[in-house]
Amino acid sequence: MAAIHRAPYRREAGMTAPRTPQPGRRDAPLAMTGDGFRRLGHRLVERIAELLEDLPGRPVTRDESPEVLKALLGGAPSVPEGGADAAALLDEAATLLFDHSLFNGHPSFLGYVTASPAPIGILADFLASAVNANTGAWRLSPIASEIELQTIDWLADLVGFPRGGGLLVSGGNMANIVALLAARRAAATWDLRRDGVRPDDAPRLRVYATDETHTWLQKAVDLAGLGGACIHWIATDEQQRMRPEALREAVAADRAAGELPMLVVATAGTVSTGALDPLGAIADVCERERVWMHVDGCYGGVAACVPDAPPPLAELGRADSLALDPHKWLYAPLEAGALLVRDRERLRDAFAYHPPYYHFGQEATNFVDLGPQNSRGFRALKVWLALRQVGRAGYAQMIGEDMRLARWLAGRVQEHPELELATQSLSITTFRFVPAELRARPADAAAELDALNREVLDRVQRSGAAFVSNAVVRGRYVLRPCIVNFHTDERALGELIELVVRIGREVVASWGSGARSVSPSRTGTTTRR
Ligand SMILES: *Cc1c(COP(=O)(O)O)cnc(C)c1O
Repeated sequence: MAAIHRAPYRREAGMTAPRTPQPGRRDAPLAMTGDGFRRLGHRLVERIAELLEDLPGRPVTRDESPEVLKALLGGAPSVPEGGADAAALLDEAATLLFDHSLFNGHPSFLGYVTASPAPIGILADFLASAVNANTGAWRLSPIASEIELQTIDWLADLVGFPRGGGLLVSGGNMANIVALLAARRAAATWDLRRDGVRPDDAPRLRVYATDETHTWLQKAVDLAGLGGACIHWIATDEQQRMRPEALREAVAADRAAGELPMLVVATAGTVSTGALDPLGAIADVCERERVWMHVDGCYGGVAACVPDAPPPLAELGRADSLALDPHKWLYAPLEAGALLVRDRERLRDAFAYHPPYYHFGQEATNFVDLGPQNSRGFRALKVWLALRQVGRAGYAQMIGEDMRLARWLAGRVQEHPELELATQSLSITTFRFVPAELRARPADAAAELDALNREVLDRVQRSGAAFVSNAVVRGRYVLRPCIVNFHTDERALGELIELVVRIGREVVASWGSGARSVSPSRTGTTTRR
């Protein structure tokens, strides 16, 4: 696509969205008539529908450099002085995005925990922004606030969590961070909101988690002013699950040392391998020790709605708070995270202020009181509509199929002589490429196998044919398909296996012929999530 040239704004130049000022009305440059909007909107919806139809035939992503993409944008350092034709701009933006994006709605996209977007969610975001409700205050968003409240209740119901309360936030990180801030306020025996985290001789607040916990935790303790050293890392078993006995001992030891246990973080579906902490046993410890139990269910939590879900998910309801992430396994378009709490007053205690410039009344829920955000968008609509479109049964079917496909993939991996299965849990299957010549001595070849699989991952991602991410399991670098994608199927997964094996053999062939010049550092790829 050619670089974008912005024509100067000229009102007479055949505007596709004519603005016909009415007498006494402002002639604002951004305003559109109903007819103009209709034409632009129909055209855009047409183009999006074509994209949805074409997606399987497109590359997942293109291997383009930042320089190439910057050049496409024309590199103008300043805002254009005049405007341009809205219809042309929308067409151009659609082309730009359709030709230079990574598509997580593609059947072969299996990276991180990033879902394919539900079409009804795409339309819901459009509708929500048309109304532009500010859900910070009930008065500003009467029906939108009620829809968010119902969505929160439904999410709790979907996963078997008590109907307490909560709110939608931008994603899983925020949901978890908000929970930690609420737990911090609840644990302090002093006026934390006035005096801060550690006045005078207040005891040190401690947090308990395993090193399989997502990095939101480090960000949260940092933001909360607690510092990373407040985390008491709890040992895991051979399946990356928290050891409840080690948790019990850690809490007791800290109490004996005069410290104040504030929060236990368990994970229902770790981001690397989908491991599930033993929630029931952890809840026993938290109840006995009277410590706030938070479950990070951002990835795996909603799998609780599947009838044959892994048993720990039946214990989600024992937590004090639960983070879910509708933009993951509920397939909402980005962004939508959710925090559920057993006792809504805990959020109010941590976040509510009553400044003189707000006059919202207390008879209804004002979400500004329950979290850090002030103005808030209407994220609930896309979640609420999708829940209504397919119901519990629809989600149980889609999530159940994602898990079944991940098990199917694990079976194919196990059958393949050049692949080695590492883990399978929920909808994550991890494995690596092990060529025949290294199969007999994988322990001696550890570094080589890591470098080889790094290179394989890099080439798979750049190929545009499929997209997976990676994990490190028991010190080994592995490929990590994660299926939160209702468009994928056995065919796409079968092609992934062929692709990995073909690329693996190519890398081995190229290394064999020219020494192993591809060093791990050069092939370093994304381990971010
Ligand atoms: C994805 C994820 C997060 C972070 O969620 P975002 O929506 O990316 O902010 C936290 N915890 C777990 C277990 C996750 O899978």
